[in-house]
Amino acid sequence: MNLAQGYIEYIINPKSGSVIGKGTAKKFANYLRNNGYDVRVDKTKSMEHVCQLATKAAMDADCSMVAVAGGDGTVREVAHGLEGSGKRLMIIPSGTENLLAKELGTSNAFKRLVEVFEDGFISELDLGIANGRCFTSIAGLGFDGDVIKKISEKRKGHITHLHYLQPILQTVRDHEFPNIRVIVDDEEIFNGQGEVFVGNISRYATGLRILRDADFSDGLLDVCVYKCASRIQFVKHYIKTIFRVHAHADDVIYRQCKKIYISSSSKNVRTQIDGDPGPELPIKIEVIPNAVRVFVSKSGKRAEL
Ligand SMILES: [Mg+2]
Repeated sequence: MNLAQGYIEYIINPKSGSVIGKGTAKKFANYLRNNGYDVRVDKTKSMEHVCQLATKAAMDADCSMVAVAGGDGTVREVAHGLEGSGKRLMIIPSGTENLLAKELGTSNAFKRLVEVFEDGFISELDLGIANGRCFTSIAGLGFDGDVIKKISEKRKGHITHLHYLQPILQTVRDHEFPNIRVIVDDEEIFNGQGEVFVGNISRYATGLRILRDADFSDGLLDVCVYKCASRIQFVKHYIKTIFRVHAHADDVIYRQCKKIYISSSSKNVRTQIDGDPGPELPIKIEVIPNAVRVFVSKSGKRAEL
């Protein structure tokens, strides 16, 4: 592909990534160098550092594009730093879920990465912003906020799906369904006990498609409210979501919008954004349309329904 003059800022999070993921990141950097690109690798020290590196690259006229090797949290911080710059972003997914990368049609297989890079398909990516904090994929409130809090308290570096099991089981046992009020584009759509998800992509952890109609470049956020007051109802929602018939259920509200305001009369309602602990309530979420330009595969865009 034809890249304008300039170096490639290559951001690697050494903490997020399996051994295989790290190998791919190195191999892809070598591939770029072997093809004549000036690759400048920066290893990240913290999430703040990730955003700083991306912001610096965004402002540097000599930087032609940015590559990031990391999980969904690392990719989010890079996207935040690049917002509005017009710089292209190549994702080398090496986290546990890699939800955004999957939605874009890339993977951590080396051959696939080379294909995506050489084909050179670029798409606009919207971002969500929740109380000033960006997210690329999904924000959740209630149950999954509790699960993420439990995981983050114990987390040291890379985690696998197994790390989620105990916190999920504990949360199923202890969770109290909060009272929440949801206002979408200035209209109250819900006031009662439930769980809320807001996002930009259709994929969610463990392969669920909660926001099944979400499109990452349509300038809208998808919202799904599960009315839920008991564990039995929660399990029913879960089963319907597995079979992707939840959006039409009587006790589910599904909308697309530009802004959402969520408040709660319950105490200690936790939130998560892209798998990390999120802001406290009340929370105001808005979409930033066309925020970042990302490499996608020909088969990217919407997940197959
Ligand atoms: Mg969208």
